[in-house]
Amino acid sequence: MELSLDGKVALVTGASSGLGENFARALAGAGAAVVLAARRLDRLEALRDALTATGARVTAVAMDVTDTGSITAGLDAGAAALGTIDVVVNNAGVSTAAPAMDIGDADWRFVVDTNLTGCFTVAREAAVRLKAAGTGGSIVNIASITGMRPAGALVHYASAKAGLIHMTKALALEWARYGIRVNAIAPGYIETDINRDFFTTDAGKALIKRIPQRRLGQPEDLNGALCLLASDASGFMTGSTLEVDGGHLCSSL
Ligand code: NAD
Repeated sequence: MELSLDGKVALVTGASSGLGENFARALAGAGAAVVLAARRLDRLEALRDALTATGARVTAVAMDVTDTGSITAGLDAGAAALGTIDVVVNNAGVSTAAPAMDIGDADWRFVVDTNLTGCFTVAREAAVRLKAAGTGGSIVNIASITGMRPAGALVHYASAKAGLIHMTKALALEWARYGIRVNAIAPGYIETDINRDFFTTDAGKALIKRIPQRRLGQPEDLNGALCLLASDASGFMTGSTLEVDGGHLCSSL
């Protein structure tokens, strides 16, 4: 079983922090050349330098996943530096929390534009280039367990992630003929900047007690699923969503 990513070129969106930074480190550690993509180029350059010092081939490109021109420019700059991008990790995401009746048009668009439309645009532009190259590839969408089972005050985020899980299947269906596999990871609660403060509150501590494994995930807990889906070891998997959540979706009703 070959989990190595030697010879692959992987792009990670939102690589400037949290899970994206962790994914970039994991992919480089497994042998991939890595294109770091995010809006904050300064933070990416520091990570690029740290990974390059370990012997990895890494480049950093500016990319806003809500801007098609920025996506195409970032993909083309990444490929010019490292070669055809054949693994794409659609990780960039945002979240706000509010009861549904308080979510205004701008909040809805902000969350859906980034978490759903942004992933589609990145996947489409990467796939157009992979089809032209004729090499096939692997797209890994970072969804969420909230896309499978709702949580309070997150209707925009949960709807976008549910859409991302369905989009994963629809694109898998269309792009299998080009050798492009499309899969997703649905993480449970993983400790990052997006949620660290919440888990110090009473509500956050109560939530952890409902996770069967009684702990938050750490970013590294996702790396097995990531390397499986990115590598040829998952060559017969497409349209799948892997839940990595300490059993949270199995919590007792
Ligand atoms: P984070 O806020 O640390 O990381 C999100 C990254 O996306 C940041 O680097 C941010 O700059 C980037 N980003 C946001 N908007 C962007 C845009 N328009 N263009 C480019 N980059 C943009 O949060 P995280 O926890 O690392 O989240 C990463 C992904 O994992 C998100 O899609 C999130 O929904 C998902 N996720 C996280 C958890 C968790 O518990 N942390 C659980 C399930 C899913």
